[in-house]
Amino acid sequence: MISTNIQIAAYLFASILFILSLSGLSSQESAKKGVIYGIVGMAIALCATLFGGNIQGYVYIIVAMVVASVIGVIVARKVQMTAMPQLIALLHSFVGLAAVLVGFSSFIDPKTVSMAGAERAIHMVEIFVGIFIGAITFTGSIIAWGKLTENITSKPLVFKGKDVVNVVLLLASVVLGVMFVGQGGTHGMPFLIAMTVIAAFFGVMLVMAIGGADMPVVISMLNSLSGWTAAASGFMLGNDLLIVTGALVGSSGAILSIIMCRAMNRSFFAVISGGFGQEVKTGRKLEGKVNSMTHDEAAEWLKEAQSVVIVPGYGMAVAKAQYPIHDMVEKLRSQGKSVKFGIHPVAGRLPGHMNVLLAEANVPYDIVLEMDEVNPELPETDVAMVVGANDTVNPGAQEDPSSPIYGMPVVEVWKAKRVIVMKRSMAVGYAGVENPLFYKENVSMLYGDAKDSVDKINAKLG
Ligand code: NDP
Repeated sequence: MISTNIQIAAYLFASILFILSLSGLSSQESAKKGVIYGIVGMAIALCATLFGGNIQGYVYIIVAMVVASVIGVIVARKVQMTAMPQLIALLHSFVGLAAVLVGFSSFIDPKTVSMAGAERAIHMVEIFVGIFIGAITFTGSIIAWGKLTENITSKPLVFKGKDVVNVVLLLASVVLGVMFVGQGGTHGMPFLIAMTVIAAFFGVMLVMAIGGADMPVVISMLNSLSGWTAAASGFMLGNDLLIVTGALVGSSGAILSIIMCRAMNRSFFAVISGGFGQEVKTGRKLEGKVNSMTHDEAAEWLKEAQSVVIVPGYGMAVAKAQYPIHDMVEKLRSQGKSVKFGIHPVAGRLPGHMNVLLAEANVPYDIVLEMDEVNPELPETDVAMVVGANDTVNPGAQEDPSSPIYGMPVVEVWKAKRVIVMKRSMAVGYAGVENPLFYKENVSMLYGDAKDSVDKINAKLG
């Protein structure tokens, strides 16, 4: 057993390590160090909690930890890079569920039942708010998981009067909250259960209403909510470390959501309120001639080019094409050509997805540019090569006001002299929107799996 003072000191030290971890994760070079700080911080936090006072039932705790660790290791080893976003969504749902359970157990705890006056009122508010955010995070994250695994349609689910229903549910929760706080003993239980059901339903409504293109913001919003949920659990349990870490995750997730909204030219309020006051758009139907090409022709285009910009998307991750792309870049650069990458902020299925994959394949950081840096260079580029990207290179975002992604900045590949688009078919991307890029005169489709296509082109490049 350690004394309370040592436990507080350990919590403080762990908090500092978590802050260092977050700052380490902000750049690729320091990311590994950031992860190590996080692991050490979490180990210290666990030990300080386990060996602190008021802990009983060690056998149950150890059994639970062993079982959970084994499951964690198996899942982490098995998970494909393309399935990371859905795994993260699922993990967020656990944080939400944990907060709901902590809230109910804290409510029926004899210590809470015997509380009186202001102390009890404050604790009741903590429990109510904690369960409210937790239940929204739980069901919202499960729906996000369903949308990311494509078990649930990525199209927004909206119906007439949706906004009114949401406002009524919110008001009902406030009324239930006032009634709950006024009750003595455990008499508030029916109000608490009613609010939990409403909040769970609210979480479903909130995420179901979001269209595919806005999902990146929802994921970072759920990440933020899971942080605030943990902070709320910290208040309920009187655990300072949980409050600090929860606030860190909550605020960094909120900042990320705002950055992503700016990058996608979306209203933060509209996205976090489940598309409040927004009309649903479907986009124009497209017709016309689509050019396609062979691997030989694609290799010829690259041989003739002096400057090449590669724009990767989710399809590169699915195909694991980053490795042959690295070889292609080496070949082209050794022939004196300028090769750069253009990365859209929401390409792939999680923030930084493309950067991680390219770093994994040892593509040099200095040729990996952000969308804003690469767009001005595209009109002077001989060949833009799109590898499994779709929504993030859709000119409809600039040309078609009826498109669900209208207003979202995109990588303007069509401005390059020639464009190769590698994908398997004419299928739509995650946002479910048709892409006028494929119908442009200077664009040729190279159908097939991206890795297979890059391998075949590499063979021709010599
Ligand atoms: P998209 O989802 O728009 O398109 C990916 C394309 O890759 C598909 O059209 C598919 O076409 C093609 N593809 C799939 N497998 C392969 C393969 N093996 N070989 C070649 N092509 C393949 O991807 P983008 O990266 O352009 O856009 C990301 C989308 O995901 C955006 O709508 C974004 O809002 C959303 N999103 C992003 C998140 C983030 O944080 N980054 C989180 C959640 C959603 P085909 O089937 O014809 O091959």
